[in-house]
Amino acid sequence: MNRNEQLFAAAQQHIPGGVNSPVRAFGSVGGTPRFFAKGEGAYVWDADGKKYIDYVGSWGPLILGHAHPAVIEAVTRTAQNGMSFGAPTEGEVHIADLLCQMLPSLEQVRLVSSGTEATMSAIRLARGFTGRDKLIKFEGCYHGHADSLLVKAGSGLLTFGNPSSAGVPAAVAADTIVLPYNDVAALEALFAEQGDKIAALIVEPIAGNMNLVQPSKEFVAAMRKLTQDHGAVLIYDEVMTGFRVGLQCAQGLHGITPDLTCLGKVVGGGLPLAAFGGRADIMAKLAPLGPVYQAGTLSGNPLAVAAGMVTLQEISKPGFFEALSAKTQAFADGLNAIGQQLANTKTISAQSVGGMFGIYCSPNIPHSYSDVMNSDRVRFNAFFHAMLDEGIYLAPSAFEAGFVSAAHTNTEIQITLDIAKAVLHKI
Ligand SMILES: *Cc1c(COP(=O)(O)O)cnc(C)c1O
Repeated sequence: MNRNEQLFAAAQQHIPGGVNSPVRAFGSVGGTPRFFAKGEGAYVWDADGKKYIDYVGSWGPLILGHAHPAVIEAVTRTAQNGMSFGAPTEGEVHIADLLCQMLPSLEQVRLVSSGTEATMSAIRLARGFTGRDKLIKFEGCYHGHADSLLVKAGSGLLTFGNPSSAGVPAAVAADTIVLPYNDVAALEALFAEQGDKIAALIVEPIAGNMNLVQPSKEFVAAMRKLTQDHGAVLIYDEVMTGFRVGLQCAQGLHGITPDLTCLGKVVGGGLPLAAFGGRADIMAKLAPLGPVYQAGTLSGNPLAVAAGMVTLQEISKPGFFEALSAKTQAFADGLNAIGQQLANTKTISAQSVGGMFGIYCSPNIPHSYSDVMNSDRVRFNAFFHAMLDEGIYLAPSAFEAGFVSAAHTNTEIQITLDIAKAVLHKI
């Protein structure tokens, strides 16, 4: 047994499945998860000392790359003055100001510690604000693991949702309606039938949890118009896309002002920080001002705020997103060029938005969850493992988006493309 295998075996003794978050277990691709010992820039090293070019970046937060000197400096300096107070600190004021300045839809913002907390709180707030219970979500979108969001579509359209996890009460799932992504007609039909009961619509404005799926212009416009017409709260879950697809997030790319926005991942620069915010009249319903309760012992933790603040400042530097987007686009273009040389049954396709990309074992770019489900998963798993052997760390699932960081240079991209080409012709 190598060290990764030893650690995975040991981990399973006291940690369920050996992991603290399920995708880490390599369940969908098979094999032994890599235990990481170190990261620097675009690279990570596993417990056996093997080095990889990393395209996961802790599932998105590490937009500056691993162990960025400015982030380390800010966190170290802050830690010397204490880890946590459970009382207000000056850093929280500065990061709230910065977030509201960067994202025009945020009039007020509250800090929390995970994306799950952000979406869960935003939904409670939307329900408290509207006095309604029903929630719309879309098939294939992930919004963290709160009960009302672990719901899959029922047997027919416009039916009640069913729990997608054991332990979620049917009564809770019944208030979540699940619709197909990019299906404007289904959305219109639902609002026509029960628009006055809808508290909120929550969406990944660019989906990144069913691999990368882009919304159509019509879908984006319909979500804004229908929620507005029916007095429902439009929640953009930008936990993944926030400050990852561009400086003004997906809402900036779409030209949409959501009522509430959830942020996470990049905002914490690798430490547990997330946020939700938006319209001041809605945010005023939150405790202590209003009747909607929400709280957190470690909310706005000084170390997380320090890491987040530096990360936001670095990505705001002129040219940051242009450079990141160009590299990520070059990666997707390179993969598409390789795909064109392969037979349709063995091909690959890719796309990118900002520093985020999708790779599909399919000749076509998907537009829905069912398109994604039709990609060749067996071939993806073979591709994943062959790349891993060659020192390229991709997300261990065909249903995850990937990430390029500012620390990736054209050299790493070219090495990865060369390896991908060799691997794809072989498998
Ligand atoms: C990651 C993610 C979440 C959950 O965030 P956690 O910090 O893992 O709780 C919610 N929504 C989206 C879109 C995400 O990508």
